[in-house]
Amino acid sequence: MSSNAINTKCWICAERATFIEMDHANRKYYQCSAPDCGDFDISWRAEESKSDSHTFKEHLKSLANKHRGSDKVPLVTIGSDQNVKIEVINKTAL
Ligand SMILES: [Zn+2]
Repeated sequence: MSSNAINTKCWICAERATFIEMDHANRKYYQCSAPDCGDFDISWRAEESKSDSHTFKEHLKSLANKHRGSDKVPLVTIGSDQNVKIEVINKTAL
């Protein structure tokens, strides 16, 4: 994580958040300020694919909140089968 945090709105809940570009800007690592949300790392393709999915966002929000403050974070990417997948991984593996 070398680049600077950028102020934005959370992709999930639209509250105040920051993101850091990851993996040559293929993904964003969000840190959301809302107490019922959390941190998550998501690729821009996954964002685009699920931008209108309330169900998906609620699921990701609960995962992000569950791991808030821990050394784990949900990582959302497009798998080789072209489906969006969520893995909970160690932050050190990002
Ligand atoms: Zn949020």
